[in-house]
Amino acid sequence: MPAKKGAAVGYAAVMRPEILFPLFAPITSLKGVGPRVAPLLQRLAGPIVRDVAFLKPHSLVRRTPASLSAGLDGQIMTFEVTVDEIQKPRSSAQPLRMRVSDPSGFLTLVFFGRFGDQIATRHPIGAKRIISGKVEDDKFGRQMVHPDYMVAPEKRDEIPELEAIYPATEGLPARRVRTFALEALERAPELPEWQDPAWLKQERFPAWREALARLHAPQTEADLAPTSPHYRRLAYDELLAQQLAMAQRKAERRRDPAARIAPSDTVQKIRADLPFAFTNAQERALTEIRADLAAGERMSRLIQGDVGSGKTVVAMCVMADVAAGAGQSALMAPTEILARQHYETISGPLSAHGVGVILLTGRDKGAARAEKLRALASGGVKVAVGTHALFQDDVAFHQLQLAVVDEQHRFGVAERQRLQSKGWATHFLAMSATPIPRTLELTVYGDLDVSKIDEKPPGRTPVATRAAPMTRITEVEGRLREAVAGGAQAFWICPLVSESELIDLKAAETRAEELKQTIGPSVGLIHGKMAPAAKDTVMAEFADGRLSVLVATTVVEVGVNVPNATIMVIEQAERFGLAQLHQLRGRVGRGRRESSCVLLYDPPLSETAQKRLDILRRTDDGFLIAETDLELRGGGDALGLKQSGFPDYVFADPFTHRDLIAAAGDDARLIVGRDSDLKSERGKALQVLQELFDWKAGLGLRDAG
Ligand code: ADP
Ligand code: MG
Repeated sequence: MPAKKGAAVGYAAVMRPEILFPLFAPITSLKGVGPRVAPLLQRLAGPIVRDVAFLKPHSLVRRTPASLSAGLDGQIMTFEVTVDEIQKPRSSAQPLRMRVSDPSGFLTLVFFGRFGDQIATRHPIGAKRIISGKVEDDKFGRQMVHPDYMVAPEKRDEIPELEAIYPATEGLPARRVRTFALEALERAPELPEWQDPAWLKQERFPAWREALARLHAPQTEADLAPTSPHYRRLAYDELLAQQLAMAQRKAERRRDPAARIAPSDTVQKIRADLPFAFTNAQERALTEIRADLAAGERMSRLIQGDVGSGKTVVAMCVMADVAAGAGQSALMAPTEILARQHYETISGPLSAHGVGVILLTGRDKGAARAEKLRALASGGVKVAVGTHALFQDDVAFHQLQLAVVDEQHRFGVAERQRLQSKGWATHFLAMSATPIPRTLELTVYGDLDVSKIDEKPPGRTPVATRAAPMTRITEVEGRLREAVAGGAQAFWICPLVSESELIDLKAAETRAEELKQTIGPSVGLIHGKMAPAAKDTVMAEFADGRLSVLVATTVVEVGVNVPNATIMVIEQAERFGLAQLHQLRGRVGRGRRESSCVLLYDPPLSETAQKRLDILRRTDDGFLIAETDLELRGGGDALGLKQSGFPDYVFADPFTHRDLIAAAGDDARLIVGRDSDLKSERGKALQVLQELFDWKAGLGLRDAG
């Protein structure tokens, strides 16, 4: 499928609707945005007028005059004053100072720059003025540097009574940003209504243009809140645009004819060989996938389940079905070590029943690699497991019918597409161990069908989890030493938390050194700045048991199966998202042996932090944990949602607007069901909406196969 924007959905407008041209003009088309200001404004907002119109004020200032004696340090305030005294600068480096007063007191206005003379002329001694700006108390007394406003009383209308405050950046003060935002708003046209009228009424949503205008002209603090009707309207628009893109992609894919793949006897034989029976959840996932594959439409499905829940084994069965029909499958993982583990899990059972499997990674070179490529191209090999090496240009398949991608969010869309494009209408199966709160599922993978493996294979012992303050680290290290002496293996996680990765890295190195002192030379270190090959080497040493303790700064690299590892120590556990902690904990407790997890925290813990760590002690259900985390923390970046593929919304907030997510999902499905080509009156308006938010292809492409 071509990745060109808009090409993915055949019915999408090829050209942008003319009505949106003013909003899609470059920001330099705004008055006062020249070569100096443009990069600053672009950093705050984005490259086009729309981005400036979508800037959100964060607070509100009332410019109601007060008496000088009521002035408060740090507040933006307004006063009616008389100019008493002007002290011109003696050199250009000095500011002009102007003493102003009212019956209750006085204040010094400070003006830097070379316009001193003009200021003195414009505001002569004895003149009455209304001034508004930030009050600052310093060693020179009470002052105001460069008032926002300074006007004669008869021109008081020039001072807005209420003023929204925008984000600012070095060299671009909030008030200029406001001017630009208001001008961008001016450029925003009335747009045809794309929302359902009954829904608008029910939610008391204003029209789009009105909602945007209200955003820039808040009347009360409540107007700034994401819960206000106009804000919710904008958030809903954004969510609908995205959900619609996802629903369209899903529908589009359903229309793609693809190879029919029937359940095979091979799978029965493979399963008979396995030393275990499938869990109910695994059975269900396999049945769902098989139904997709038998339907003759292109499959796009996600298997979601904790690490070790048995996703790969299910995928293996599906690949056996494909092979039985003479098709090929590719299983792609983000790191070499993960690829190798997958290979080790599936190659035995598959090859025992005549299904040839190869492992293809960046390490394959020369003649050996050429041999593998030949086997793939000829169709002699039916399953290729590997890394990025799988989608390189010179890799060709005889008949690729299924692409399985592990940890799909770690690959770019283009990368996944490069793999899929090696076959015709390739079925797509993703695997993810990231638990996403139910309410947010639609936003992250609304265009995939989901099979959940929410059940662990039997015989896993729950991981004994406890929290301990950092002050008890020596004790923890002592216990670790004993356990290691008894043959145990442990992960020790040092999070990246400070502003500087270098400082964090240093801390991890120091920790590894310290553990070497207490435990011995079998302590290894892995961190994000290492070359991939070096990481893989360290991981392999740990997996082989040559290292007994692995200190790690990164969460992701630890996504491997080391059944002998039974101890997980996490420093500054309070800084992690709960879902991440849960995933980390999932690295242990894989074997029969008793496992433990120690959550070290920097005391004192806030009440919320305490509750969060408590959840982990009480449950092992990843979905419940993710949901609770969202509730406890009220959403936001802290959840680590971005890392799991959560889109970068302008208005929509995953927590505050969670009720709107489900509604937008339903709405989108209805629209696509009734008017898949968006040809109706509302459909045409919806095309404008999608263009407005760039969701036509954006997320759809980002998160689907
Ligand atoms: P995931 O891909 O979800 O991390 P895997 O499919 O790799 O999980 O399975 C993890 C381990 O558990 C493998 O060693 C696998 O053989 C084993 N396993 C999978 N399913 C079961 C089951 N139903 N019962 C017991 N062990 C299982
Ligand atoms: Mg796995």
